[in-house]
Amino acid sequence: MPGVTHKALSAVVIASWLGCASQPTAGERLERQSNWKSPDAPCANFADLRKPRLRNIGVKIDVAEPWADGFRRAIRFWNTVLAATLHEETDLSVCSIRIIDGAPDILDHPVAARSQLTDWADFTGKIAVSRVAAKEMNNDEIYATAVHEIGHLLGLKHNANIHSIMYFLDVDSSDVLDRKDILNLSRRHELRPAILANGVVSILASSSEIALKDPSVQSPRWSPPSRKPAHGSAL
Ligand SMILES: [Zn+2]
Repeated sequence: MPGVTHKALSAVVIASWLGCASQPTAGERLERQSNWKSPDAPCANFADLRKPRLRNIGVKIDVAEPWADGFRRAIRFWNTVLAATLHEETDLSVCSIRIIDGAPDILDHPVAARSQLTDWADFTGKIAVSRVAAKEMNNDEIYATAVHEIGHLLGLKHNANIHSIMYFLDVDSSDVLDRKDILNLSRRHELRPAILANGVVSILASSSEIALKDPSVQSPRWSPPSRKPAHGSAL
């Protein structure tokens, strides 16, 4: 992964998902939580994301680079995992996921990106991203954030494993779907047989070569968060 060495040397932990850190209290969990809202029209087929069997999932990317490329890469990654197909779609009447620029009320600095959660009320299949935060992130961090946020739209929640892409912070070593992520994903959606068989998949593999890697053999690159003017994202 270009940038990993640099990132490791600089010992910078990008708190891309900083806002994710806040966990609901027991009291809050008693009430069904609501998603953030925006005036942008949602994709007509957002409800498809809640269906157990995904088919063609159109992703409408209404953001500039570098986010647009990050989400295109993330689409390619998820297509190596899901039995369904994600594709870029420009027509609001047939897409399911819409990527939008987040207004300050959705993306308070330093939040970088925020998805809606499938199981929460007012779900409309949106992911909001921050142009400001993108200026402080490299392409791989943008890509990893895009994979993470689409993961939420596929029903994944945060994972306490620092190696998981669904870890709530973006750290150098957060670059796999681990066994727990894959198990949880398989309970909601049909996955490619190779993914289920191997159990761990790196987001750094190309779409033609699914590199499987066991995070337990990686040397940890965690260092206490020296949060770069922390970009973070809530969800
Ligand atoms: Zn998150």
